[in-house]
Amino acid sequence: MTRVLDGNAVATSIRDGLSTSIDSLGEQGVTPGLATVLMSDDPSSETYVSMKQRDCEEVGINGIHVEIDVEAPAEELLSTIAELNTDPAVNGILVQLPLPDHVDKRAVLQAIDPMKDVDGFHPENVGLLVAGEPRYKPCTPHGVQKLLEAADVDPDGADAVIVGRSDIVGKPLANLLFQKQQGGNATVTVCHSHTDDLAAKTSAADIVVAAAGVPNLIDETMLAEGATVIDVGVNAVDADTEKGYRLTGDVDFERAKSVADVITPVPGGVGPMTRAMLLYNTVKAAGLQHDISVDLP
Ligand code: NAD
Repeated sequence: MTRVLDGNAVATSIRDGLSTSIDSLGEQGVTPGLATVLMSDDPSSETYVSMKQRDCEEVGINGIHVEIDVEAPAEELLSTIAELNTDPAVNGILVQLPLPDHVDKRAVLQAIDPMKDVDGFHPENVGLLVAGEPRYKPCTPHGVQKLLEAADVDPDGADAVIVGRSDIVGKPLANLLFQKQQGGNATVTVCHSHTDDLAAKTSAADIVVAAAGVPNLIDETMLAEGATVIDVGVNAVDADTEKGYRLTGDVDFERAKSVADVITPVPGGVGPMTRAMLLYNTVKAAGLQHDISVDLP
């Protein structure tokens, strides 16, 4: 019987645990604060940011939101970040990506105080992750790791194939899964757009994580019987719906389900976990900045 992992349920239990951590910080006079910065008029970016603000409100994190005109010079964004870096009420800063073309994304990510970099994209935090001493694990890979743990799928000794090598998903996830640490110890293969014979790699894997942004890239012909399949992809495909599209993953869910032991749906799999792990990093950041040791879920 295939197990379909309920990312909403796992995310809810993490958020419940975070509420307890937030209460204990509150007893010491600290309320975690997350600043979201939006420099985009893309409706999906606007939706993502408002969901993050709503999540903060629900768990008791103080949400601060800053919007910057999409045509403003990059300096305006950089000076906003500089102010947030020194604002003691702000423990985490999240700049919603993508940014407009005239803004250098790397310069922006490097301008964020690494202690407040709750996305985990600053080079200092990337370095700590690679060194096996992560300060803030990037939210989506951390969410995948927590989902595997909740499903009792231990990567230790498993062959894991990650499809996608992006800085925000594939690369950090590879680091988490092969580290000599709990939730790691897998043998990891990272596939990408230049990989020869993707199916040969995925069909030899115990765990397949799809993060390519290609709808229905993976089906049952590319999977081993009994595999664990985690679908990170979120793709809008044309559909006869009110919005004119529907969201689908990188995995052909119905077909993959016929061979997988464990599988995540889209939506309702990795997405809610990404949101929960942002809250996790913000609470962790508040603890670190106030030198308070906080129990995290
Ligand atoms: P990206 O475009 O930065 O990277 C995609 C990667 O996939 C690249 O490394 C590319 O080489 C690889 N790739 C593309 N086509 C391939 C193919 N045919 N075979 C093998 N590899 C291929 O994307 P990203 O930002 O890492 O996001 C990937 C997907 O995950 C997207 O659908 C995105 O929307 C989704 N996503 C979801 C969440 C979430 O919380 N659920 C978070 C981040 C990204």
